[in-house]
Amino acid sequence: MTKIAQVIILFLAVGPFPIGVKAVPQDNQDNALKPYWNVHSDGIDVGGCDAHEENLRTAWEEACKFSRQALSDVQFMEQNHNNGDGPNAQQQPNERKRWDRVYPTLLALFGSPFDSQKNLLTGDRAVFDKVRRFFAEMQLKCSVREPFGAKPYLYCDDKQFRFIRDEEPDPEDPDSKIEENYPTCKKYGGIWYSDQNPDFEHYVQRAPPLDDEDRIYCRGETRAMTRMEPPKIMWWCPAGLKDTPSIDAVRSRIRMVRTPPALATMLIRTHRITKLDNIAGDFDINDMPTTWIHEMGHLLFRQRDHQTYDSNGNLKTLRQDVWDSNTRRFVESQKPAETFNFKEATRLAKFNPRAAIESPENFAQFAKAMYLSDWDWHLGYAQPPP
Ligand SMILES: [Zn+2]
Repeated sequence: MTKIAQVIILFLAVGPFPIGVKAVPQDNQDNALKPYWNVHSDGIDVGGCDAHEENLRTAWEEACKFSRQALSDVQFMEQNHNNGDGPNAQQQPNERKRWDRVYPTLLALFGSPFDSQKNLLTGDRAVFDKVRRFFAEMQLKCSVREPFGAKPYLYCDDKQFRFIRDEEPDPEDPDSKIEENYPTCKKYGGIWYSDQNPDFEHYVQRAPPLDDEDRIYCRGETRAMTRMEPPKIMWWCPAGLKDTPSIDAVRSRIRMVRTPPALATMLIRTHRITKLDNIAGDFDINDMPTTWIHEMGHLLFRQRDHQTYDSNGNLKTLRQDVWDSNTRRFVESQKPAETFNFKEATRLAKFNPRAAIESPENFAQFAKAMYLSDWDWHLGYAQPPP
């Protein structure tokens, strides 16, 4: 029988964006999309990425560049931390400047690496260690020259899936009804099917569609989705594929005015200061490289999306239609609101730092902030570097 697909959904936001045109690495160079990814080559109606391959190459290249910069910066902090005091401003002025730009962002997104006695924390709060390991692993994946082991699959969109309802024949065993071959149909009233997926993954057990338009993974503003169990699969959804594949192409939009925090909201609203979340657009929009690093947290480290908090430290929830397998109907209920932008990532770090160091969004935001090294992002918006 088919294994149950364990999946993770991510990301909210909106809007189409201009696309930067530039050369992308060849397959045998650093930061190349292949050979690390097994890209499903075909039309979008069957989950293929042909129409998006150039953008995917650009976005993966930048996800790699973000990660290489993040690795360099965390190694720098690890070597110069001086128990949290950082480099001496007189003796090492350049190192001090770099420290003052990168360390506050690390604190904001992961909490302090030190205890109250200024000793390095260990175990599940070993901040430097965990951040370094995340981006070292990314660097490895970004440096692949020859295919090795089981490559993760990359799909675009999930239109190839359809929901087979109870009583319908099993497409791969037409003499049987679907629920005879897949007893968990009882729970969902059917099963999702695609013959375009890898062989082991033709049948996926998951809640039925909410309406005729509904999809298995790419619901609403979901930008991408990752199957964490091997063999691993990442899907790009239409909302994610609409995002800008290149932060480099839009970085000229970044505006900055040095400001006391009290005035920041007004200056952001009047477009005089740019938020890290919306460099690519006017809303809390994402870019593909940041989404991609988030997904890599799921894919490489089996990280899950953690529930985030409001400004008072209360866990946040969202109203959503949730499948109830007892009544076999969708019911409106409160679901945990997961961590999906800079502000939510910093709240997670503030109220639950143990979760922050396991949160894919925190790593994605950190890498983006490190890559955009002309600015200090620790407040979530562009400020002049120290
Ligand atoms: Zn996620």
